[in-house]
Amino acid sequence: MRAKKTETELKTLTAERIAILDDIEHLREWLLGEVDADADEGDPDLAEREKNLALLTVMERKLESVNSALRAIEKGSYGICERCENPIDPARLEVRPDATLCLDCQREVERIAKKAALRYMEE
Ligand SMILES: [Zn+2]
Repeated sequence: MRAKKTETELKTLTAERIAILDDIEHLREWLLGEVDADADEGDPDLAEREKNLALLTVMERKLESVNSALRAIEKGSYGICERCENPIDPARLEVRPDATLCLDCQREVERIAKKAALRYMEE
């Protein structure tokens, strides 16, 4: 199946990728700086640190997803669900240009991930 034209998406995703990389770099710098400060002052702002660590994880996940969307554009499979190979709803792609799964598969994957996380926490 041939995907739709992707010039706009390519631009959006490339710009987003640069912005994310920038954010990640800033967060890493902040977190590294914080480690040094902690050693001196012994008064870490744990809440702030946890918030930034969580943000970093989110950004890294987002980067991964933007990267796979960019790969999909390269392969000509952009807009096709990686899991069920059905076309992804264009409205969804407009909101999430980095989506590589259709909404149904996304929900399914999240459900499985949640289950796995719960099992992990129980152990
Ligand atoms: Zn799907």
